[in-house]
Amino acid sequence: MRIISGAKPSGKLHIGNYLGSIKNWVKLQEDPKNECWFFIADYHSITEDYDPKQKSKEIFDMALDLLALGLGPKKSVLFQQSRINEHANLGWIFNTIVRMSELERMTQYKDKALVQKQNVNVGLFDYPALMAADILIYKAEAVPVGEDQLQHLELTRDIARRFNEKFGKIFPEPKSILTETPRIMSLTDPLKKMSKSGGEKSYIALSDSPEIIREKIKIAVSDAGGKDKRDGGDNLLSIFNAFTQTKEEKTEYLSYKKDHEAGKLRYAGLKPRLAELIADYFADYRKKHIEFSKNPDYVKKVLAEGAEKALAIAEKTLKEVKQKIGLII
Ligand code: AMP
Repeated sequence: MRIISGAKPSGKLHIGNYLGSIKNWVKLQEDPKNECWFFIADYHSITEDYDPKQKSKEIFDMALDLLALGLGPKKSVLFQQSRINEHANLGWIFNTIVRMSELERMTQYKDKALVQKQNVNVGLFDYPALMAADILIYKAEAVPVGEDQLQHLELTRDIARRFNEKFGKIFPEPKSILTETPRIMSLTDPLKKMSKSGGEKSYIALSDSPEIIREKIKIAVSDAGGKDKRDGGDNLLSIFNAFTQTKEEKTEYLSYKKDHEAGKLRYAGLKPRLAELIADYFADYRKKHIEFSKNPDYVKKVLAEGAEKALAIAEKTLKEVKQKIGLII
């Protein structure tokens, strides 16, 4: 099965990205039956407010992050989206297939337009057409994503189907692959999705030190504050569950869960344990991150080789598409 997914290089990767999506990338690349492609979605990231002086560092850091998590290059292909012009080319063709009314329905667009009121750019609106191109240019069959991307993926299938019906079948209709925690909530406002835009204290970055993790979990909103904040406790517990690795930790989780259901969970006990669990889980990542950061040439080489592989397929698909729609004379 050919699998593809991407993540935006904007700020640091957080445990929402990891538990909702990237955890599955790592798992899926272990199966030799899968052919995995993962990209740094820099073209998508420039639809948000950004500092051009920081962007190349953010792209490099994301490559470092992915390598430190054990992705590529032996098990999967890592590459940078903007290096493959064919994504944007196919995105343009999809612009002529997707309808305004479909894009207007996208909840991510509506949410982000509220956050960046001064910068509601056309790219932000058109994001799903480029995302469909990112996936279909490789004729990928499955896409591991968090819950927030399901609507976009459904539109990708609609675009594929519409193209196939109109011009002849070339695209598969890719399915989504979700983790057990497809939606991690903010630590400071558990009614909102965890995201970088919620501020430093609202998320745990993979690169946070054990001390910072402890501090952030300590002040995380739990359900102790009243009925409207109930979700906070559920969120902390599902994060706990997702990071358990041993039988003992699982048992510990079940006991916290039972206490929570009975309304007698002590956060003073749960929170330090949860912080410890997260810090331990990423100990190996932190070590590898230091190692890879000493070798920037290697990181760049991985991306260059990835781009070469991606280009070979993307060129072929775009040619096929141009042929189908009658652009080749
Ligand atoms: P992005 O930051 O939009 O590039 O996200 C990269 C991946 O992380 C996508 O597959 C998202 O669906 C996923 N993701 C982002 N935030 C969350 C969250 N709070 N919970 C679960 N998955 C998430």
